[in-house]
Amino acid sequence: MINDYDFMLTQDQLDLRNLVQDFAQNVVKPVCRVAERDAIVPEEQVKQAMDMGLHLMTLPEEYGGLGLDHLTNAIIREELSKGDAGFASRVTGFGFAPVQIAGNEWQKQWVADLFLNGGIMAFGLTESTAGSNAAAMTTTARRDGDDYIINGGKTFITNGDCADVITIFAVTDKDKGSKGITAFLLPKDTPGFTVGEHEDKMGIRCVHTNSLFFDDMRLSAKYRLGEEGEGFKIAMKILDDSRPCTAASAVGIAQAALDEALAYSKVREVFGKPICENQAIAFMLADMEIQIQAARRLVWGNCLAADAGVINKRLVAIAKCFASDTAMKVTTDAVQIFGGNGYSKEYPVEKLMRDAKIYQIFEGTNQIQRTIISRDLLR
Ligand SMILES: Cc1cc2nc3c(=O)[nH]c(=O)nc-3n(C[C@H](O)[C@H](O)[C@H](O)COP(=O)(O)OP(=O)(O)OC[C@H]3O[C@@H](n4cnc5c(N)ncnc54)[C@H](O)[C@@H]3O)c2cc1C
Repeated sequence: MINDYDFMLTQDQLDLRNLVQDFAQNVVKPVCRVAERDAIVPEEQVKQAMDMGLHLMTLPEEYGGLGLDHLTNAIIREELSKGDAGFASRVTGFGFAPVQIAGNEWQKQWVADLFLNGGIMAFGLTESTAGSNAAAMTTTARRDGDDYIINGGKTFITNGDCADVITIFAVTDKDKGSKGITAFLLPKDTPGFTVGEHEDKMGIRCVHTNSLFFDDMRLSAKYRLGEEGEGFKIAMKILDDSRPCTAASAVGIAQAALDEALAYSKVREVFGKPICENQAIAFMLADMEIQIQAARRLVWGNCLAADAGVINKRLVAIAKCFASDTAMKVTTDAVQIFGGNGYSKEYPVEKLMRDAKIYQIFEGTNQIQRTIISRDLLR
C-alpha cells in the first residue's frame, strides 16, 4: 500500500493500522481464502479479532469501548477488508451507531454490555417486497399493553444468524407512510423470532446473510428505539453514518486487487518480458491507483466531516457510490491483468471481484445513491 497521506494520521492511528494490517494479512486472509469456498465463518479468528477489541471500535469509551472516531474506524475497516471483507462485516456488525443515534441510556448500557461480552448488532430493514423502497415494508407492530406484537419478516440480513441484537423496523401506523414506521431493538432469544438458512452468496461468504421471521413476536416497549413513527428517519440516519465505513471496505477490496495485480504483472512474462512493461498494462495499473486514491479521499473526507458533526447526505452517497464502483472496476481489471489465471479460483483476484459486487447493491443500491445525489443537485 502506498501511504502518501500518512502525514494526516496520528501515531496512534498508524500503530493501530499496522496491528490490524498484520492480523488481516497473516491470519484473516489465508483462513478466509479457504473458508469462503464453503461459506464458513471462521469463528476462531472472529474471536481473536474480538479479543483485539475490533468489534468495540464504535462503542464509546464511557461504555467500555474503544470510542474510535469515524476516520480511524474507516482505516481499520479498510485494512480488515483487505484481508477479507465478509470477515470485516462479521466482526464489526453494524456497530453501536443505532443506539448512539436513537437509544436511551438504558438501551445504550444494555447494548454496550452485550458488545463487551463479544456480541454484535445487525440491521434489519429490507423485506422481500421492500428493498430500495424500504418505506413500503409490511412488517407490523401492534401495541398491546407494555408490549408490541410484531408480525412479518426481514430478508438479506447480514449477521442475522449470530447477532445478539438486531435493529428492526415495523409499521405502527399504516396510514402515515414512512412516518408510521417505528424502530426496535430485537434481542436474539425473543419468543416468536426465528432465523432462516443463510443465503448461498456470490461473495462476502465469510459472513452470513439470513431471512428473519416474526410470528406474533412479543417485544417489551422498553426495546422501542426512539418514538413511534421515528423509525424511518432513524434508519436513514444509521445508513448515513455507516455508508462511509462500508465504502472503506470497498476501498480495501480494491487496494487488495491492485496489490495482487501489481505483483503479478512484474513476474508474469509474456513475449519475453514482464507484462507490466506493456503500456496497456501499466496504464491499467495507473488507473486503478487513481481511482483508489480518489475513493479513499472521499471516504476520509466524509469521516472527517462526521467527526466534526457534519453529515452531508450527497457527499455520503458520492463516497459510497464511487468507492463501490471503483472496487468493481479495479477488481475486474485485476482479473484481466491475471489473464486466464485471473478466472481461476487458484488465484486470489476472482474472489475479490465477487466480494466487490455487493458494495454496489447493499446499504442502498448505486442507483438509489445516484437518485439521492441528483435530487440534491436539482433541488
Ligand atoms: C449480501 C447482502 C447483504 C445485505 N445486508 C443487509 C442488511 O444487513 N440489512 C438490510 O436491511 N438489508 C440488507 N441487504 C439488502 C439490500 O440492502 C437490498 O438488497 C438493496 O437495498 C436492494 O433492494 P432489493 O434487493 O429489493 O432490490 P430492488 O429494490 O428490487 O431493486 C432492483 C433493481 O432496481 C433498481 N431500482 C429500484 N428502484 C429504482 C429507482 N427508483 N430508480 C432506479 N433504479 C431503481 C435497483 O437499484 C436495483 O438495481 C443485503 C443484501 C445482500 C444481497
